[in-house]
Order: sequence, then C-alpha cells, then structure tokens
Amino acid sequence: MEHADLIVCRDLSLGYEGQSVLTRLNLRVRSGDYLCVVGDNGSGKSTLLRGLLGLLPPLSGSIQRAAELKEGAVGYLPQQTRAQRDFPATVEEVVLSGCLSRKGLRFFYSAAQRSRALMNMGKLGVLELRGKSYRELSGGQQQRVLLARALCAAERLLILDEPVTGLDPAAAQDLYKTLAYLNKKEGMAVVMVTHDLRPAFRDAGMVLHIGHGGIFLGSPAEYLASPCGRRFKEAAE
Ligand code: ADP
Repeated sequence: MEHADLIVCRDLSLGYEGQSVLTRLNLRVRSGDYLCVVGDNGSGKSTLLRGLLGLLPPLSGSIQRAAELKEGAVGYLPQQTRAQRDFPATVEEVVLSGCLSRKGLRFFYSAAQRSRALMNMGKLGVLELRGKSYRELSGGQQQRVLLARALCAAERLLILDEPVTGLDPAAAQDLYKTLAYLNKKEGMAVVMVTHDLRPAFRDAGMVLHIGHGGIFLGSPAEYLASPCGRRFKEAAE
C-alpha cells in the first residue's frame, strides 16, 4: 500500500455461502477521496460496504486497510430501518455512543470524548437538540444526528449507505452539502452508496457502478460518457 491509501481491494470477490455477488473488483480509496457507489438494486453495493468495513471476508482476492482504520477510525452510517428511527435515547446519548469503539473497557466516557461529541453536534447543527429524544426528531434531523455519531468514530473515512432515503429534497441537499464540506475542508474520505446521481456528478471524484452486467469505475465525466452511465442516468430521470 502507498502512503495515502486507506483501502486497497485487489481482484476482490465478495458474496455469501460461497456464492459470489461481486467479482474481481480492483479499487483504491485514498485519503480525501469521495467515491459514490451506484447501480442496480441487489447488485452488491451494500455487500461491498460490508467488505470494506471488514464485516464480510473476501471469497477471493484481498482487501487491505491502512493501520489507522484497523483501530476503528471509520464512521459508518448504515441504512435506516423503522426500528432504528424509534430508538429511545437522547440526541446526546446517540452521538456519544459513536465513541464506544474507543472507550475500551472503561465505564464512562472521557472528557475528551464528550467534547468531541459536542463538537460534532455543533458541526452538524444539532447541538440545540441535544437533550431531545431522538425518536421525536424529523428524518433529516435524525440523519444529522447519526452523521455526528459517525464522526465520533471517523478520523479519516466515512462510509454511508443511502443516507438520504426518506428525506425530503431540502434535507437531502443539506446532508450532501455537509458531506462535501467535510470532504473538501476537513479531508474526510467519503464512500457513499446512493440512488441519487446528483452528488455522484457534483461532489464525487470517482463513481463506481455495480450492475448485473459488470463493474465500471471512473471519474464522473467518464461515467457520464460511458454507455452504462448514460443508461443509468436516463433511467433515474
Ligand atoms: P444492493 O445494496 O446493491 O441493493 P446487496 O449488496 O444488498 O445489493 O445484495 C446483493 C445480493 O446479495 C442480493 O442478491 C442479495 O439477495 C444478496 N444478499 C445480501 N445480503 C445477504 C445475506 N446476508 N445472505 C445471503 N445473501 C445476501
């Protein structure tokens, strides 16, 4: 791996019970990259994220992670389920729980973790909601809280699975803006699965299309010029 590499996949195949879903992927995520993962339903986008997170071992090929990611410095925003939207805790508790992987066996959060949580709530504009119950928030506010939580874990890399599902267009734009800010101004690498092609063309440096017909990886302009990019864009419009 080179100095700036966070994750390197070589000839990677991923799947379940010996059946591959994704085959022979070569992918490099570097510090400060913004990668959008798009493609057909059921083509393996979430499966790839599971692989990148180390939750699913390769069927063949390899995934290498930078040493700092092995220490838990990845922020993950999973797809939301209805049950999670009903989570009975305050905003501050939800955000603080993002520090859990760094807490080790200690019982209490440290002062540094508490101030990190406060800082991230401030960054995401949810500080004034901190005493509120998470389940009473709007969908957009909940996603901001979960992003603040993910930032408590993330030093270098944020991994997001369809973060704007269920949000109204204004809340979705807001979330994309925040992600672009974190990426550009703070150098946070972003890997995001999305059905929405706007951030893929506007904010991302690279687009990975996973389709039933194969894999395409390139810049947004290259993707748009490719047959699979054009087809996918027309279908989305
Ligand atoms: P996408 O995120 O692109 O919609 P997924 O990665 O969720 O696609 O799924 C890709 C394929 O893997 C689908 O055919 C799905 O049924 C299968 N799959 C997903 N999760 C599992 C699992 N835990 N066990 C077995 N098969 C799975």
